[in-house]
Amino acid sequence: MAANLLDFDLEGLAAFCGSLGEKRFRATQLFRWIHQKGASDFAQMSDLAKSLRDKLADAAEIRPLSVVSEHVSDDGTVKWLFDVGAGDAIETVFIPEVDRGTLCISSQAGCAVGCRFCSTGHQGFSRNLTTGEILAQLWQAEHQLRRRLNLAAGERAITNVVMMGMGEPLQNYSALLPALRVMLDDHAYGLSRRRVTVSSSGVVPMIERLREDCPVALAVSLHAPDDALRDQLVPLNKKYPLQELLAACRRYLASAPRDFITFEYCMLDGVNDSPTQADALVRLVRDADIACKFNLIPFNPFPASGLTRSPRERVLAFAQRLQDAGLVTTVRKTRGDDIDAACGQLAGEVQDRTRVVARLRRVPVVVQPVQRV
Ligand code: SF4
Repeated sequence: MAANLLDFDLEGLAAFCGSLGEKRFRATQLFRWIHQKGASDFAQMSDLAKSLRDKLADAAEIRPLSVVSEHVSDDGTVKWLFDVGAGDAIETVFIPEVDRGTLCISSQAGCAVGCRFCSTGHQGFSRNLTTGEILAQLWQAEHQLRRRLNLAAGERAITNVVMMGMGEPLQNYSALLPALRVMLDDHAYGLSRRRVTVSSSGVVPMIERLREDCPVALAVSLHAPDDALRDQLVPLNKKYPLQELLAACRRYLASAPRDFITFEYCMLDGVNDSPTQADALVRLVRDADIACKFNLIPFNPFPASGLTRSPRERVLAFAQRLQDAGLVTTVRKTRGDDIDAACGQLAGEVQDRTRVVARLRRVPVVVQPVQRV
């Protein structure tokens, strides 16, 4: 089977080119064609020798994901559903804002962590994505948006990446790491490490690995101020309880001292949204001495969860309490509600994995032009 060149970071591509008898600078040229120019056809790569293009045509390919559907929201949010084979689908979401374009990428088909409030978690785990499948989401979105938005050469549609789609990225570390390196590489997307965020439910040993290998921005799904409640909401807490997790966050920041951890907190009616719990949260992060921000997330209800969304007044009161204690706190705006692109909403559609692709193919694809941001 031909090698998928999206599976390689620059080192990997240099090794692949070496196996074809080519020098390293050829790998850099090829890497730029793929990631900076969005080329998928070796014949386009005019500054590569014809002999190399022929070798590549025989031995390699740039394998896109197959699009099941693409929906564009009234607010410009774009949601792609990609078929990754064997009845599995993953989602990728582009969120345009005035000063940035953020792409939310999936790392696994399904998820094994099983957070109670997450519809992907209820769906169960199917498989890890490859590096090529993780990067194809960025590659396809960036180059499609550039064409659609008619961007000038050098202008980028995607300025930020968040690994917050389906899956726990730190449980797919060996595929994640080369993908992060490509995102940061100046010969590819050239994103600064503060503009690439890995969001984790708290896989402590892999937080340590990420700190050593590629300390990008880190977001941690907290969702509870104490172990008793977090054990129920995020089952991984039983393995890596709060004090261990917070110690790993503190060590992470020691490698990136000007950074902060973003704590995600999904607001669940009557479960984790009381003033007492806000105060406990303040004590928790103060005692742990961690530079942090809070992001409060309105819950997207789905029937199997048995949970409901906190009323907006309670979310605002909770946010105010954290802010009054000196913690920077934002409340996530729901985006793309009209196309079910808000966090965790997709899995409701794809729960029946065995037939999901066939079922979604019957759903009409709606493609509208997005507004330039
Ligand atoms: S919130 Fe994240 S880690 Fe938890 S089940 Fe959902 S995808 Fe997995």
